[in-house]
Formats: sequence, structure tokens, C-alpha cells
Amino acid sequence: MYCVKCGVKLEDTEKMCPLCGTVVFHPDIKRDEVERLYPENNYPKQHINTFAAMIIITTLFLTPILITLLCDLKVNAAVTWSGYVMGALVLAYIMIVLPFWFKRPNPVIFVPCSFAALGGYLWYINFAVDGDWFLCFAFPLVTGIGLTVTAVVTLVKYLKHGMLYIFGGAILLLGILSPGLELLVNITFAIEKFSFWSIYPLVASLLMGGLLIFLAINKSFREKMERKFFI
Ligand SMILES: [Zn+2]
Repeated sequence: MYCVKCGVKLEDTEKMCPLCGTVVFHPDIKRDEVERLYPENNYPKQHINTFAAMIIITTLFLTPILITLLCDLKVNAAVTWSGYVMGALVLAYIMIVLPFWFKRPNPVIFVPCSFAALGGYLWYINFAVDGDWFLCFAFPLVTGIGLTVTAVVTLVKYLKHGMLYIFGGAILLLGILSPGLELLVNITFAIEKFSFWSIYPLVASLLMGGLLIFLAINKSFREKMERKFFI
């Protein structure tokens, strides 16, 4: 047996290194309960007051909202441009800050909330500029992407395996939806001549998503790729 600190040879009966005084741990020798092998973790616990931090961040968001609202009301006597600014700030707050009010924010809840907030903001802009593109364009687009991302987040959170299937499937789905998006754009903005730009994301997604699904199915090929790229 040797001392772990200085390497000096020790007798089996020794409880302490004669040279450096390090306590010797010998599995065959019973120790007193009070004798600890390692020092306890005595680092002072860091106390960050999350509640106070959240109040400060919320105030940082509320201040520009109030200032823009007051300026707009003073100059135009109505909510005009300030609506966009306030909407964007509220949207950013919901997407970035809101989850931190919770101890363990669940992305399965907050991701769809963020997309709903984005949809609401776009609806407000559509309403404010008197547009007619929300229902036939922005709404299906935000809903489609929102549902796909929520599905991916949910599957990744609750499934331990099958990441390649999940991401491959999501990429394929988004690619397959892109001709639908082109159709929506053309209908909404009354474009009569199709340029078929959606063929590019469609082909890219078929290649990428297809590769991921292929890797998911073909185990030996996957292992070969892993050896080639990750080790
Ligand atoms: Zn020693």
C-alpha cells in the first residue's frame, strides 16, 4: 500500500502517512463514524434572487412600452406606430422572458405559446395595416411551422431514442409543405405566374431528411458514418 499524496510505502496497519500525514483509507480497517475521508463541501451557496431579477427584467421591458405609448398618444392622439413597437416587445417578452418565471419551464408548453404570440402579433399588424394576408397566408404558415416545431420538441423531450427519425421526419415535412407555401403566397399576393421556387427547399429537404431516415434505418451504415465523423 502506498500513500496517495506522497507515494511513500505504508504498512497495512497505518492509519496515517508517517511522512505527510495524509489519512490512509484501508478497506479492511474499520473507521470511526466521525472520521471523514474527504472534507465536506463547505462552499457558501450562491444566492441569486430570481424573483428580484425577473422584476428588473420585466421593468426593462415595460419602460420602453410605456414611453412609446405616451409619445404616440401625445403626438398622434392615438395608437399608431407604437402598436408595432409594443407588440414586438410583448412578443419578445413572451418568447424569451416568460419561461424564466417558472422553475422548470416545459418547452412543450412554451414553444406553442411563442408561436401563438407570434400569430397574434402578425394578426395585429394585418389589422393595423388593413391587410388581408393574415388568414390565408400568415395564419397557416405560423400554424404549420408551430405544429411541426412543437411536435419535434415534444418527441425529443419524451422519447429517449429515435432522434434521427424525429429530425428526418420534421425536415421532410417542412420540405413537403413548401409547395403549399408557394401556393399560399401566390394566392395571397395575386401572383399569377408560378416561379416554382419551392422546388429547391423541397429537393433539399428530401435529400437531408431522406439521409437522416436512411441512417436511422441502416444501422451498419450509421455506425460507419459515426466512426468516420465523430471519432
Ligand atoms: Zn504521504
